[in-house]
Amino acid sequence: MARDIVGTMNVTFHGAAQTVTGSQHLVCVQGRDYLLDCGQYQGRRKEAEARNRNLPFRASSIEAVMLSHAHIDHSGNLPMLVKSGFNGPVYSSPATADLCVPMLTDSAGIHEKDAAFLNKRRARRKAVGMQVGEEDVQPLYTVEDAERTFPLFRTVPLHTPADIGPGVVYETWDAGHILGSTCMALTLTENGRTVRLGFSGDVGRTGLPIINDPESLPPVDYLILESTYGDRLHRPIEAVAEKLADIVTRTYARGGRVIVPAFAVGRTQQLVLMLHELINAGRIPALPIFVDSPLAVNITEVYRKHSELFDSEARAFSDRGEDPFGFSRLRLHPRGGRIEGAERSACALYRSLGVGHVRSRPHSASPEERHRRPAQHHPDHRLSGREHAGPQAGGALAGSAHLWRNDDTPRGCAEDQ
Ligand SMILES: [Zn+2]
Repeated sequence: MARDIVGTMNVTFHGAAQTVTGSQHLVCVQGRDYLLDCGQYQGRRKEAEARNRNLPFRASSIEAVMLSHAHIDHSGNLPMLVKSGFNGPVYSSPATADLCVPMLTDSAGIHEKDAAFLNKRRARRKAVGMQVGEEDVQPLYTVEDAERTFPLFRTVPLHTPADIGPGVVYETWDAGHILGSTCMALTLTENGRTVRLGFSGDVGRTGLPIINDPESLPPVDYLILESTYGDRLHRPIEAVAEKLADIVTRTYARGGRVIVPAFAVGRTQQLVLMLHELINAGRIPALPIFVDSPLAVNITEVYRKHSELFDSEARAFSDRGEDPFGFSRLRLHPRGGRIEGAERSACALYRSLGVGHVRSRPHSASPEERHRRPAQHHPDHRLSGREHAGPQAGGALAGSAHLWRNDDTPRGCAEDQ
């Protein structure tokens, strides 16, 4: 269907509306479509598969993507977009582009393993005469698709306006959520009229370890604002450190080990730094600390590379010649293996399921993981419950907002609307 978009400037919400994952917002300016975030929808397998595979717009018609940050629910469907025909630029901060390399590669690897698992199960069922589908399950996207995505990144530093298309100026501010996370303000011009559209991405809380606090956006005419927490209030970060110290000290006293599920991006680095500070302050014993996620290790390297984004606390470590992520007690360990030397009184961080993952993978848990789950402490959950939240039931995911138009005729932006 031909579209007549003269005089229209629309935003259509294709995710993260009445749910907390799959952030994708389509902005139409001067007849061109721009995508704010390209998040992967995370939920029940079939529903997630259908939403992520069947894009609600034509990928090849997207002019450019603007990415707020590297979490999978904001970036994870980029390889699918590329696989479906998108070949334009992806604008982001330099740290987000760097983080997306290990994040999307890992995500693609999970999709490949997931498909292999389902096909193996299918073959087993077929062998015993059960009814199964004829076709092999294909991964949503592959590592190869992810690798075709990386060259499309165009990095733009904070506070630097960039013309990215006719009538579209993109500028970012620090969102204080994870390394490289941004809020953005788009200056959009059409038919001689200009509006400013703000997009918050995920906004961090003040006082988080390592990264700076969120900056305020300049005044905007319209704002797309995340509201994951609703009206809930966070406890001060000091209370979190206190709780963590209490858990570690009590566990140590009875000769136990603390096992922490921690998201590979952001949370692992924050916890390591927090434990480091607690040990330095003498508030917890000097325990060995293990990180058993290769992804967390790769992401920590990106954190090290972007020390210009550190807050004063993390910078103080660097200034003293210390590495906040590599101190002598930290031992990095491959996922799923036995942690040698952790017989007693250790703190182990392993990768949890959530934003850093495509979907829950009960089949992929090692026997060690399944065994140790009941004994976990969850300070991570106390730091932020957001990543653990499942999608809310019901409601359509897509909605649309009209910025302004020259007449009153309702129109969509995408061709299929
Ligand atoms: Zn996020």
